[in-house]
Amino acid sequence: TERSMNLAEQAKRVAAEFEFGPGNVRKAVKEFVREMDEGLQKEGTELSQIPTYVTAVPNGTEKGLYMAVDLGGTNFRVCSIQLHGNTTFSLTQSKVAIPHELMVAKTSKELFSFLAKQIENFLKAHHEDHYTATIKRRQTEGNIKEEEIFDLGFTFSFPVQQIGINKGVLMRWTKGFDIQETIGQDVCALLQKEIDELHLPVRVAALVNDTVGTLMARSYTSPGKTGTLLGAIFGTGTNGAYVEKLDKVSKLTQSKDAGDFDKSTGEMIVNTEWGSFDNSLRTLPNTPYDVELDAKSVNPGIQMFEKRVSGMFLGELLRIALVGLVKDPAIPLFKDENSSQNDVHSTTQIHEGSPIWKQWGIDTSFLSICAGDHSDGHRVIRQTLDKEYGISAVSAEDAEAVREIAFAVGRRAARLAAVAIGAIVLETGRLRSATASGTATTEDKEGVDPPRGTVDSSGRGEVAEEDVIDIGVDGSLVEFYPNFEEHIRQALREVEEIGEQGEKRIRIGIAKDGSGVGAALIALVAGRMT
Ligand code: ADP
Repeated sequence: TERSMNLAEQAKRVAAEFEFGPGNVRKAVKEFVREMDEGLQKEGTELSQIPTYVTAVPNGTEKGLYMAVDLGGTNFRVCSIQLHGNTTFSLTQSKVAIPHELMVAKTSKELFSFLAKQIENFLKAHHEDHYTATIKRRQTEGNIKEEEIFDLGFTFSFPVQQIGINKGVLMRWTKGFDIQETIGQDVCALLQKEIDELHLPVRVAALVNDTVGTLMARSYTSPGKTGTLLGAIFGTGTNGAYVEKLDKVSKLTQSKDAGDFDKSTGEMIVNTEWGSFDNSLRTLPNTPYDVELDAKSVNPGIQMFEKRVSGMFLGELLRIALVGLVKDPAIPLFKDENSSQNDVHSTTQIHEGSPIWKQWGIDTSFLSICAGDHSDGHRVIRQTLDKEYGISAVSAEDAEAVREIAFAVGRRAARLAAVAIGAIVLETGRLRSATASGTATTEDKEGVDPPRGTVDSSGRGEVAEEDVIDIGVDGSLVEFYPNFEEHIRQALREVEEIGEQGEKRIRIGIAKDGSGVGAALIALVAGRMT
């Protein structure tokens, strides 16, 4: 019918606005590389490129018992991690909600003494023998032995200025925390002080960013001995941390305020804070839907990459696009066949109280449902719209229109994710470092073609282990959005300097539990350095 054709055309038009083609990807990769280099040289750039003072990634042979704690929002998590040294580990953990009055306490001590108390409870519950032995030794000998002390990694997901591997000053609280006294203080020292008051055998060895934890966790557990290059998160937010050559981190190596650290590996993990890539919109797409989302956000003009890529925002982009169509009386989306009045609420099939009318009303998991619905007439989409979003009697044409737009939003996000991944692969020169088994020259020259993987008889490229460029990812979006990785790969192939050969060398794997095993591994490398 004319009616459904109109709707299909409108859906195609909106979906087309979310196209981010090969040319756009290439331009954005160039800009990302430029911002990476700029961020390594100076402060106040779009990519913050924060030096983490972590100078090595694990290879899976690391052993020992470590602790990790995670303060990120509503909960405080305490764990101990036994690294078995064969890429596996066991983890014991406990979790407790942070009482609201401590989030807004008068003094830092109120919060941090509570955290130390949780560590004590954990030790008593899960490492009782060890705990009582150290208490006894302290009473009889006055002090405990170095090897009895647990090294602990502290994942602290608030903005900190890191000045050493276990030293970082709180810049500001977020997520509902508000303790004035803590701002400007070293959060590791605050935690250590309370741990010491309880005489716990625990040393805060490392301050951990969650993306660095993801990188470390993946590097320990990934198959093969080649260390992981990049840890990336695509969850509520998005960010990545990667292994950089130390001499390129000139803002650190040439700074007089830099803390002391081990320079022997010649590398340092850098936290890109890529959520703010291209805030000035040189290369990022900017549809009317992006403009509206940004204008109504709490932080207009910043985190512009994140607003196009991460789980917090994709559902909202879809919602804005759909509401735009619904509000246009000429477009039949979710409208009664016979209606022609101008009052949106009374003429649509959308319930007045539907979350679709409210900011943040559509969750990004709905995009996954749309991309994954292969049923006849998109039955799953229609059911979800009915049950979760209060939109009744949705037609197959309506569902197809929703699916098409949702798919475009999700695919654009994945292609933008590829921009960050591709830029880091290129900037670090990993494609140029061929191996003994590779067919290209090993000279690290500018402009050398990417080496080919060894091609098996079936003609499918098979990559030698040494040529693999390993990437660890975490977050619900990359884990649950159908074919997110495939969309990333498609875009990577479109970047000439990567191409099909380069894309094959990139291995992407889920890295779980960065704030547990990842933090433990950072505590381990930190312990080795001191
Ligand atoms: P966090 O990043 O907060 O640690 P997650 O990795 O679970 O936690 O990410 C949560 C985000 O992922 C939310 O924005 C949510 O909307 C989105 N999300 C949850 N489930 C899915 C799904 N099935 N598909 C896509 N996105 C999802």
